[in-house]
Amino acid sequence: MNSFENLGLSKAILEAISELGFENPTPIQEKAIPVLLEGRSDFVGLAQTGTGKTAAYGLPLLELIEQEEKLPQALILSPTRELGIQIAEDLRLFSKNILNLSVVNVYGGASIDDQIRKLRRGAHVIVATPGRLLDMIRRRAVNLSKIEYLILDEADEMLNMGFKEDIDEILATTSEEKLTWLFSATMPPEVRRISKNYMTDPVEVTVGTANATNVNIEHQYYLLNNRDHYNVLKRVVDYYPDIFGIVFCRTRKETQEVAELLMKDGYNADAIHGDLTQVQRDRVMRNFKNRTLQLLVATDVAARGIDVDDLTHVIHYNLPDELEFYTHRSGRTARAGKKGISISLITPRDERKVKNLARKLKVEFAQVKIPVGEEVCERQLLNFMHRVQEVNVEETEIAPFLDGINEELKDLDREDLIKRFVSLEFNRFWEYYKNTPDLNMKSSTQKRAIRASDRGDSNEDRMFINVGKKDGIDVPRLLNLIHKQCGVRGKNIGRVDLKGVFSFFDVEKQYTDEIIKGFAGAVVGGRTIRIEISGDDPTQSSHRKGNSPRSGGSRSDRGGSDRRFSDRRSSDRGGYKKESYRDRKRKSEGSRYSDRKRRDA
Ligand code: AMP
Repeated sequence: MNSFENLGLSKAILEAISELGFENPTPIQEKAIPVLLEGRSDFVGLAQTGTGKTAAYGLPLLELIEQEEKLPQALILSPTRELGIQIAEDLRLFSKNILNLSVVNVYGGASIDDQIRKLRRGAHVIVATPGRLLDMIRRRAVNLSKIEYLILDEADEMLNMGFKEDIDEILATTSEEKLTWLFSATMPPEVRRISKNYMTDPVEVTVGTANATNVNIEHQYYLLNNRDHYNVLKRVVDYYPDIFGIVFCRTRKETQEVAELLMKDGYNADAIHGDLTQVQRDRVMRNFKNRTLQLLVATDVAARGIDVDDLTHVIHYNLPDELEFYTHRSGRTARAGKKGISISLITPRDERKVKNLARKLKVEFAQVKIPVGEEVCERQLLNFMHRVQEVNVEETEIAPFLDGINEELKDLDREDLIKRFVSLEFNRFWEYYKNTPDLNMKSSTQKRAIRASDRGDSNEDRMFINVGKKDGIDVPRLLNLIHKQCGVRGKNIGRVDLKGVFSFFDVEKQYTDEIIKGFAGAVVGGRTIRIEISGDDPTQSSHRKGNSPRSGGSRSDRGGSDRRFSDRRSSDRGGYKKESYRDRKRKSEGSRYSDRKRRDA
């Protein structure tokens, strides 16, 4: 492998990237840097996001910039402001040893006057989104006449997002002599057209196969009932206590709902989508980037250009319709050579889609069993043990309390002590998970669901009834009650989920009316029965109540949590220390978990 030293970079840059921990160039850097440093040719780089593209063009660009020239010499176009900000930040880091180099961001949603002022003060490099830049060009607020290097980053994304005309107009205002460097993950005809129309004999470099999915991504899917999406999501998150990832939803509404449910259930999550103001989006992104936020729930569009490293998981709450979306979503994990897991929550109807994806992307999708309650508890316990082993004991600070602690615990032997200490963690998960159903689809249910979905419907209704375990109801009693009140037999009732003071059960559609009529005005145990079709909204059943092992106090503040977990990852995932996040979480949450039982009662 080549080293950065051999690529022709200056000492100032080499020192800066060495401080960033870059030891060896990535394949795209190895191929692009020597060509771009010559400053003579147009360039097309086909590489996925996360492969080190920014440095591949950024490092040679910084070497080529003339500091004395005051008008902008380089223009980098990016599809989203988030990516734009990231690029500018990277360039500033790479150029930290080059004094007086100015990189200015230009993007919508922020004050245009401020950006114009910054440009007037002098910018060597402009990093812009097409829409806002065009606005500035039309106002004659930016002078692009001296642009020598034009970089189109994530060109396919820009075209996907409808920036075709804007790009054409911007390109028309720049000089003929400039060099154009285009980077794209894929090469659809529109990108090819740009390279044909605006570039001269570009050097073309492909890293991996264009369109290829990152080999470091493990593709998994869970097969579930349509209504269980949210519950399975919670289970996945509980099963991976150190998860740091993005949950992709299809619509803004769903994105907001899922994020709100997660927050309500005590998870460290927030949403990003187009209905948020720019200020809100910025805050969420900031929290996610600095790992204050553990789970980002996002739409495809809002997540474009999110370049956050070390994501452990990408979760597809629903599968996207387009292959490109799946690739982009999954590509948010396993960046820079790390490993990552892409999990799709699918219903039987989607199984065909998974097969298609696997074939077209040439990757394997493994069906994974949805963890059952005991497995989640075991995971949580092991994680707890790991944290115990890793915790940093503050010897001096804790010393004054030790005598008192020892006195308090003197009657407990080691075994008893361990059991009690473990129970503190175990009980709250067990309390929640001991009665939770297995969410894996049984093969009979699966077949029925496939038949139903092939017909475009389901032959069952999901019913809500306001009696549950706290009323002494169990499955036989509920079936009995239904039979007595409505004459509907147990064999016509499907899955039953008993909760504290309410329950859900499936009933074949032809009996739904009988059930509703049968219970009309009925009184059980002194309580008037309320029964209704609960709808098929996967988020509904959990929405009725913060129902989770983590429940305990809603977080109405969007992203306002101070529960950071910046250094919480285990060593197998890039050197994060676990105890820090968990310990702080423990401190900040205190007895929330144990409070839950009381509140639920
Ligand atoms: P990019 O594709 O430019 O967004 O880069 C993805 C991530 O890889 C960023 O966090 C970079 O800081 C990191 N990175 C880029 N080049 C290298 C390298 N040669 N060695 C280690 N990390 C790198």
